[in-house]
Amino acid sequence: MIILSKLNLTQSRWNDIKNNNSHADDQFIYAVKSTMIFCKPSCSAKLPAKENVTLYNDYHDAITAGYRPCKKCNPTGRFTDKEEWCIQIKNYITRHYQQPITLDELANHCHGSIYHLSRVFKELEGMTIIDYLHLVRTTEAKKLLADQMLDLTTIALTVGYKTPSQFIKKFKQYFHLTPHKFRQQFTKL
Ligand SMILES: [Zn+2]
Repeated sequence: MIILSKLNLTQSRWNDIKNNNSHADDQFIYAVKSTMIFCKPSCSAKLPAKENVTLYNDYHDAITAGYRPCKKCNPTGRFTDKEEWCIQIKNYITRHYQQPITLDELANHCHGSIYHLSRVFKELEGMTIIDYLHLVRTTEAKKLLADQMLDLTTIALTVGYKTPSQFIKKFKQYFHLTPHKFRQQFTKL
């Protein structure tokens, strides 16, 4: 028989739930019978009826008892699969932006179809994967522009563009001024 570490719903713990007290988050989680979902005390979800609430020390016990983690407060502290994917995609881009990246390679690396990957990324990050890639490249270029010794071609190639004109076009699109203008402004500061 599995013994689950249920806790008593004391007045002070009930207050923690009522007041969304984040200090109680590492002390217990509460499961709600009517929804079969469990939450951290700090969760801003609607206050459940007291008689439906069961407290556990450990979220594993809530899962064993058949409850599912709340999507809002993420009480297991784990990333959702979609978040996990976006982190993987961003990490990959951060590591490889200096080279030509194809969506094929990226999809391969992240174990998903290009279509699915693109959709999830857009949904969570509010931009396409390619937009994000250009954002990383042009942001890195900004740092390099501070160095007066580097010419635009070198900078363009360093951050992963094949030609300076491609680089200038994207830079303008993201920061609304040319790299040259940006450098001028930067020097004045
Ligand atoms: Zn919650």
